[in-house]
Amino acid sequence: MEKIKVGVLGATGSVGQRFIQLLENHPFFTVSHLAASEKSAGKTYGEVMKSRWKISADIPSYAKDIVITLPKPSDTKGVQLVFSGLDSSIAGEVETEYAEAGVIVISNSKNHRMDPNVPILSAEVNPEHLDVLKAQSTPGKILTNSNCTIMGVTISLKPLFDKFGLESVMLFSMQAISGAGYPGVPTMDILGNVVPYISGEEDKAETEPQKCLGTVKDGQIVSAPFSISAHCNRVPVFDGHTVCVSAKFKKKPSKEEILDAWKNFSGEPQKLDLPLAPKQAIVYREESDRPQPRLDLDTGRGMATTIGRLREDSLFDWKWVVLSHNTIRGAAGAALLNAELMYKKGLIGSSK
Ligand code: NAP
Repeated sequence: MEKIKVGVLGATGSVGQRFIQLLENHPFFTVSHLAASEKSAGKTYGEVMKSRWKISADIPSYAKDIVITLPKPSDTKGVQLVFSGLDSSIAGEVETEYAEAGVIVISNSKNHRMDPNVPILSAEVNPEHLDVLKAQSTPGKILTNSNCTIMGVTISLKPLFDKFGLESVMLFSMQAISGAGYPGVPTMDILGNVVPYISGEEDKAETEPQKCLGTVKDGQIVSAPFSISAHCNRVPVFDGHTVCVSAKFKKKPSKEEILDAWKNFSGEPQKLDLPLAPKQAIVYREESDRPQPRLDLDTGRGMATTIGRLREDSLFDWKWVVLSHNTIRGAAGAALLNAELMYKKGLIGSSK
């Protein structure tokens, strides 16, 4: 079976490196196009990344000899799909250019997320949102991941929203340094410290989950009608965003009902046995001091959402703690899972 040619835009960044790692020996996709800024263009990936690779495994050999270009659709040579880990200062415009050139773009950037006919796709949560791609006028299509902080939160809410309805949610995040890209937050600002502000993050946390849990109507996504209040904080953790969540439901469930909903939650990635799908989408830890980034980050190869500390809330109904890997489940892994889903559904190449 011939593999589908794909590209990675922003291949040198924190998210880009994860794509390079996760795409090694992928059964459906082969990487033939890598793009980044002028600083990196014209050199091989191996040369540029010698001093910049930050993942604790070697740079995959397949990528080392690929020459990095600027992100231009004319340089793609038969690429059907690009994964974008571009900085948001240029992602919006560049991604539109690729879609106009007939390429499917799966983006990690914020730029197109709230466009009404662009899904914020989370493969277990809202695969039906793929329907709105038809309403995009370009020959290629754009879909996005959610913001990395709310990826695990939305997965934890999905089975509860479906069964009990949601009225309001309160979030308090503790976000890893790698979420700010590379080189990210200066050491002097974050070592031994907490920074109670991340530019633009609370706006995304207060709007994206409703869109993810929304419904498709006349080729557009209509956000679910519940409210969210978010506090977002940067903490001195390398990888892994931890979020404390409190929720008020339309119909208050029992503890057993919530645990049951999480335990039995699975979606199309599990049914279709997609290569990157975690066997268990949600893992609930019974220990009173879990989840913790150091202990639980790699659950399900970084693709599972780990939850713990479910207890009653005196202001809302219930509260819990969610952990997810920001560059895997919150970015490159989620985007690749979306591409696997599209491939299996015949929306990319041919799955015959
Ligand atoms: P990053 O480490 O700063 O990487 C940014 C990438 O964009 C680099 O490859 C960089 O290339 C490229 N780039 C910057 N300016 C460019 C230009 N003018 N032309 C072409 N390429 C350019 O950022 P990141 O953390 O990987 O994040 C990438 C995107 O994903 C952002 O939109 C971010 O908000 C989003 N995101 C990040 C995370 C996370 O956990 N880090 C999670 C979810 C979503 P050079 O190396 O050549 O400069």
